[in-house]
Order: sequence, then structure tokens, then C-alpha cells
Amino acid sequence: MGSTSKRQLPLSSSSSSSSRAASGQGNAAVRSKTPASRRSVTPNSRVHSNEDDSADSGRVRVAVRLRPRNADDLLSDADFADCVELQPEMRRLKLRKNNWSSESYRFDEVFMESASQRHVYEVVAKPVVESVLNGYNGTVMAYGQTGTGKTYTLGRLGNDDASERGIMVRALEDIIANTSPTSDSVEISYLQVLQCEPVDNIQYVLDLSLAVGSCCFSTILVRSILQFHPAEIVHSDIEWLQDLLAPEKINIPITEDPRTGKYRCLVLQLLKFEILTIFYKQLQIGEANRHAANTKLNTESSRSHAILMVYVRRSVHKKVEDEISSQEKVNRSDVPGGSRIPIVRKSKLLIVDLAGSERVDKSGSEGQLLEEAKFINLSLTSLGKCINALAENSPHIPIRDSKLTRLLRDSFGGSARTSLIITIGPSARHHAETTSTIMFGQRAMKIVNMVKLKEEFDYESLCRKLEKQVDQLTEEIERQQKKNLVTRSEFLEKENTRLELEMKDFLNELNHQKDLNVLMRDEVASLEMSLKHSKIKLAITMSVLPCHIVITLSII
Ligand code: ADP
Ligand code: MG
Repeated sequence: MGSTSKRQLPLSSSSSSSSRAASGQGNAAVRSKTPASRRSVTPNSRVHSNEDDSADSGRVRVAVRLRPRNADDLLSDADFADCVELQPEMRRLKLRKNNWSSESYRFDEVFMESASQRHVYEVVAKPVVESVLNGYNGTVMAYGQTGTGKTYTLGRLGNDDASERGIMVRALEDIIANTSPTSDSVEISYLQVLQCEPVDNIQYVLDLSLAVGSCCFSTILVRSILQFHPAEIVHSDIEWLQDLLAPEKINIPITEDPRTGKYRCLVLQLLKFEILTIFYKQLQIGEANRHAANTKLNTESSRSHAILMVYVRRSVHKKVEDEISSQEKVNRSDVPGGSRIPIVRKSKLLIVDLAGSERVDKSGSEGQLLEEAKFINLSLTSLGKCINALAENSPHIPIRDSKLTRLLRDSFGGSARTSLIITIGPSARHHAETTSTIMFGQRAMKIVNMVKLKEEFDYESLCRKLEKQVDQLTEEIERQQKKNLVTRSEFLEKENTRLELEMKDFLNELNHQKDLNVLMRDEVASLEMSLKHSKIKLAITMSVLPCHIVITLSII
């Protein structure tokens, strides 16, 4: 319930205005200028075109369902006409004021008593479920007086008759059928919001701890509550949030992320599953825990709000990759390794079975029960105030007033695709409750959410992939290094042998040269000796020569 939402101009509750609101004519111009779907601009998200997004797609869709007459109605209203008349083909409901006049209201869908569970699912919830599978948050919520069929519409398990299965079961069947167990994940948590009269909280906690087995958490809670004077206990202390899949968790805090403004329940059990039988079992356990807690608290399930949260995480495959614009492909490759960054869509489906919307004096409550019913109605009153504020474009939306409205922040005026089914009975005895339920639905129809694709780069899986790659590369390097080491030592050994051989050759050569040298020296010595002899001979010859010459000349 963000205050930033685009809202339609306030419309009066008169029949003509109601009709305009439903048909979308009155403010078509306004809406067409302000497209209801918004894309995130964070670096993690991306702009994505979706042909299905009409300007009206973000508006809260509201359907009305009439419960068949029950034995009580038949007995007490035998002589009276029903207080409502449905015209499904015109999507109109006529509410009788008296025998002479009536008011008509238009809704997005009007279901007769005979409408099947399958038809209701397909019209009210299936578009939301499909949206969740495509990466948008979604909410399906039932509002109405106790006994008008909220739990029947949403929570029926259909164990005995499969055609009776309600929206929760059908939605999960569709989600499981359309997700892959290898690349996607589906998780659920199931909780209830209960409200108790402050003074009796202590008793409730003790009772509840006996019901679910004594646990430290309860003891701590009892102590912390004892330290308060009842007058000091603020509203949120009397509004408890219990995990229906781990019922010992009975006062789960909701924290607000200061950066994003989103609310989160920290300790809520998240159950991951891939097969439907586990879900059926968990839903049954949740229902049993809801019943056990309510029995111990001396109340009924219809006095608490039950919320099934389904978290869907889907990897975007090739088909969707193809839809990425070329500009975006450029953007993605800007990131290091960007062209290969996987994309993930993380969306959440809330299925909300609200407490009965009747006034306290109509709920037949007494004493303690009456007090509790008052507080439950306070929680619903907070929701009503938020719906009014959003419908009237008020600058302040009192979401912080209750845990319920904080949990539904995204559903009204937020970024979720929301369908509301209001349930009514035919009996004229409940004319006032039926009127107030119809008015709630009419106001909700004026709210336009800014539907936003919950898509981001899957850095987690990219990181895992890169880590794996780094490990593989490290292993490869180590292997190579080992291999290199072996090769190097082999090389050195060979080199060593080669050098040794070379050295040997060199030594041999040296010895040979040495021998040659000795020979040469001997040769030189003998040559020197022969030279010496020759010189002597020459000298002798020279000394004898002049006599010869003289003799020869004299002969001549
Ligand atoms: P709520 O949750 O609004 O208090 P329930 O869903 O418990 O009301 O319905 C009260 C009774 O009316 C149940 O017995 C349920 O089976 C019956 N009921 C409600 N809506 C229908 C319907 N459309 N068709 C048949 N039975 C219905
Ligand atoms: Mg119910």
C-alpha cells in the first residue's frame, strides 16, 4: 500500500459512478496517460515490453460471489426475497433497499450461486497466477461476512470431491505444472494474523504453548508481556502473527527495510517443494494448526486472517531472452561477462483469507470473544482505512496501523496484480453487512497498482558458475604445473647427459691435441737440430768457398 501508486480519481458510490468505475470509461483518459505498469530502473532490473499490459491492467479487479442459500437462510427468510439480484451478463449486482428501490453496482465479474469453483478460479485467480509465473507479484484476497464462502472459495482442499478444490490448491497446481524442478524453485509459507485482548495475552500464550508443546520462545514472550502494563501495550503487540507451518512461532516480528520500504517476516518457515502431495499435506497441517490455535484461544478460524505466501523463482530461458531488446543486450554486455549473465524472476503470490467482516454485535461474540472480535475488526478497519485512503487519493495511507496492512502493502497501491473476491449471502437479514461488503469492493476497484516486473540479473548463480570455473582452472593450472615439473626434470637430465658426453668429447679432443702438441714439439726440436747442422755445414762451406773462387778465377 504505497503512497506512490497511481490512483483513479475518486468516484462516488452511486450506481452510475460505480458503473463508470467498473467499465473504465470515467477515467480512461487519466489512465491512458499514466500507464499502470511500471518497470524497475535499478541496475539489477530491466525494461521489458509486455503486450498484455493494457493501461487498465494494474487496477485491482473485484469479483462478487453469492453463496447459495443455506438451511438457516431457508428457514428464516422463507417469506422474504433475497436482498440481492445478480445480472452476470451485465456484470451488475442490484442491492434491494426496500420493496420499491434498489441500487446497482458494477463489478469486474459477478458469480451466481451456481458458479463452479473451477470457473471462479479461472476468472479471478488464473490471470494473477499467470502474472506471478511471468515475474509479477500477485494477490488474491477474499473479503466478506463470516459464513459467506471465503474459505470455501480459497482454501477448500477438495479431498472428497476434486471439483471443490479452492483457489489455493488450483493456483499451486498451475504453478508447479509451469515451473521446472531443475531451474526454478517454489517455496511457501503459511501464516495467520490473530488479535487478542492485551490483558489476556498472557493466558493465551500459556495456552498456546501447551497446545504446541512448551517452547522457550513462548516463555520469553510471556516474560516480555508481563513487563508491560496493559495500557502500554501498543496495537501491534495485540496483533500476533503465527506461522501455521511452525506453530510454536507465535509472535513473529515484521521488519521494514529502510532502503526499500519493504516489510519482511524474518523467522517465517519457508518450505521448498516440487511435488504437490507435499503441498497438500502442508496445507492440511496449516489448517490443523490454525484450528488447534483457535480452539486453544477459544475462538474460530473465521476470526483470524490466513495468508498463504508462495515464492516463485524462475530462471529466464531462451524464449524470454529473445524478447530482450537489442539496446538491452548492449547494456548487458557492458557488465563484465554481461552477455552471459543469467536472469531470474522472483515473484510472490499472496492468497489471503480474511477474517469475517461483520460488525461485532453480529458475530455473536461474548466476553473475551467479543474483545477479540473487536480487535480483529480493528485490523480489518485498518485495511478498510487504507483502501479508502487509496481510493480517495489521500496523501497519507495508514499502512503502519496494523500487521495485516503492512503484509498487504504491495497488494493495494503497490506493485502487485491484485484480485479481490467479495463474498455475500442472499439473506435480507444481513443487508447491512452485504452493503458494507459491496462498498468495500467498490472502493477497492478504484485502486490502480503500478505493476512491476520482478526481474534481476542472477548474480548468485553467475557467482556460483564463476566459482566453479575458477576451481576448474586452478585444478588445470596445478595439473599443468605438475606436468611441467616432470618435463623440466626430464629435460635437465637429458641436458646433463648431453653435457657430460660433450665434456668427455672435449677431454678426448684435448688429450689428442696434447699428443699432437708433443709430436709437434719433437718435430720442431728435430727441425731446429737439422737447421743447426745445416748452418754449420753452410759456414764450413763458406769458409772453403773463397779459395775455390780464387783457384777457379786463376784457371780462367
Ligand atoms: P467463511 O470462510 O466466509 O466464513 P465458509 O467458506 O466457511 O465461510 O463457508 C461457510 C459454509 O458455506 C461452508 O459450509 C461452505 O461449505 C458453504 N459454502 C460457502 N460458499 C459456498 C458455495 N459457493 N457453494 C456451496 N457451499 C458454499
Ligand atoms: Mg473462513
